[in-house]
Amino acid sequence: MAKIKTLSPDVVAKIAAGEVVERPASVVKELLENALDAQSASVKVEVLGSGRKLIRVTDDGEGMTGEEVLQAIQSHTTSKIESLEDLFSLRTFGFRGEALASISAVSRVRITTRKEGQLSGNEVRVEGGTLCHAGETGCPSGTSVEVRDLFFNVPARLKFLKSPGTELGHISEILAKAALANPRTRFQLFHEGKLLANYPSRQDPSARLVEALGKEVEGNIFPFRLQQGELRVEGFGGEPDLNRPNGRGIYLFVNRRPVRDRLLTHAILEGYRNVIPKDRYPVAVLLAEVPPAEVDVNVHPGKWEVKFANSEMVHRLVIHAVRGMIEEMPWLKTERATQSEEFKERPVAYLPQGRETPLPLSWTDSVRVQSKGDYRETGRVPGSGIAFLGQVQETYLVFVSPEGMLLLDQHAAHERILLEKLSNDLFHGGISKQPLLLSEVIELSTNEAEIIDEHLGDLARMGFDLEPAGLRTFWVKSVPQILADQDPLETLRETVKEISSWGKDASLKNSYDSLLKMMACHGAIQAHRPMGGEEARALWTDLQNCRFPSHCPHGRPTQIKISHFDLEKMFGRR
Ligand code: ADP
Ligand code: MG
Repeated sequence: MAKIKTLSPDVVAKIAAGEVVERPASVVKELLENALDAQSASVKVEVLGSGRKLIRVTDDGEGMTGEEVLQAIQSHTTSKIESLEDLFSLRTFGFRGEALASISAVSRVRITTRKEGQLSGNEVRVEGGTLCHAGETGCPSGTSVEVRDLFFNVPARLKFLKSPGTELGHISEILAKAALANPRTRFQLFHEGKLLANYPSRQDPSARLVEALGKEVEGNIFPFRLQQGELRVEGFGGEPDLNRPNGRGIYLFVNRRPVRDRLLTHAILEGYRNVIPKDRYPVAVLLAEVPPAEVDVNVHPGKWEVKFANSEMVHRLVIHAVRGMIEEMPWLKTERATQSEEFKERPVAYLPQGRETPLPLSWTDSVRVQSKGDYRETGRVPGSGIAFLGQVQETYLVFVSPEGMLLLDQHAAHERILLEKLSNDLFHGGISKQPLLLSEVIELSTNEAEIIDEHLGDLARMGFDLEPAGLRTFWVKSVPQILADQDPLETLRETVKEISSWGKDASLKNSYDSLLKMMACHGAIQAHRPMGGEEARALWTDLQNCRFPSHCPHGRPTQIKISHFDLEKMFGRR
């Protein structure tokens, strides 16, 4: 039998600390949260040696009495909750009562603090969990927590720290997140005495976007807001072309708490589905307000994770909010309001409450209206003020519009139109078919034939009616209408390949989606094909009737607008 021993309090403390304090940035996060919970208006973060040598967070918040500060450094001491139920009406970031104790267990901490109205302040010093000093001191009202020599007594931990640049980057990220979610609070970050980030107090989060996310988002990120019952999501989404190779440009907050959450990330990506390239990620900031009773924050000591009571509803609301913004294509508007004006003035859209009117389960890229494309050769599309000028490289269509000039990529535009038409058809029963007068025969590999045998229904919904003709051969009775002029058997072969590649647990929605994209691509007017005015104008009109006209299913732009302002700038008139 193994010998069972009780761990010493010192080891217990260090193990507990390990869960909360992973790196310098975790210390910054906890101290910032404490400063915010103390209602601070201004918070200063000073760092030496990327946080390994020193982290000092100074706030002008409520402060603590001498007695309180001595309690605060003990483990499991908090002023924020008393019972477990309090977790479900929580309005503070902290609730575990462990941060100060954990940080003190693995560093040298000095806290000075004074409550407003008190004559003198208090100072405590703790080294590796041992109280070294407690007494009165003179200090401004508020609290300053100094953390020196992080992990001096757990050298093994130091080995897991990354380069100074990376650790400092993590600290900046924590600050950017705090700044995005708490616009009224002023934040400053100093490294080696130099001001690294400065966030003056602002009225609303939109003013913080450029400060926190960088210059590249300026003018390229747009607000969205949606509310259902007490659930409210708002935030900002970058234009589709502002995409990134990873999800690091996605900032998620639940009740101002920064979180990592697959569900919310997924909802944002769903919002951008088929308008940004595969494997790319948008830049987005999501601020979800959820009644505290509906969200569990006690999932992990780092407090990065949450659980929703009604996750499906949160998921849908986020998709709808983001999709709504994309549908409006604010990045194509010529006159852009400054973002903070736009954010303030934009009304909150309300979705009806209650179960009777659920949001649709998923967004289909379905079309709103089906246009007929019946235009006379007057050069103008009736009612739109748009006139077709001609084709460049037999690929790009040039139009004049009341706002300036418009360029269309004929293939990308048609692909978008077809994708939405196909999705719409599929959603409403099935894709329109064209019977083949003389049915053709397609021969497959044994493996493919077996799989296809099981998916004849899926193929029929896609517009391909097949009937078994032999062991590995099938009669092709009909093909999707949009492919009738192309080589439908070629597309059928690819469809078969695609279906054969569906794993057992592939999501049907994703699978159909990739089939539809492929069919849209095959069916669409190719580049380098001459096009007359009538067809060009019909294409333009059909594109306007799409739900998400700005980008093709692969994430390339379908259109480029050149405004009068742009033209004047190009010619040096401005
Ligand atoms: P928690 O934040 O979960 O309560 P902490 O260990 O972070 O646990 O802090 C313990 C307590 O110390 C807090 O509940 C709060 O009362 C007090 N405290 C910590 N930091 C500050 C601060 N900057 N200003 C005022 N009070 C603070
Ligand atoms: Mg705390």
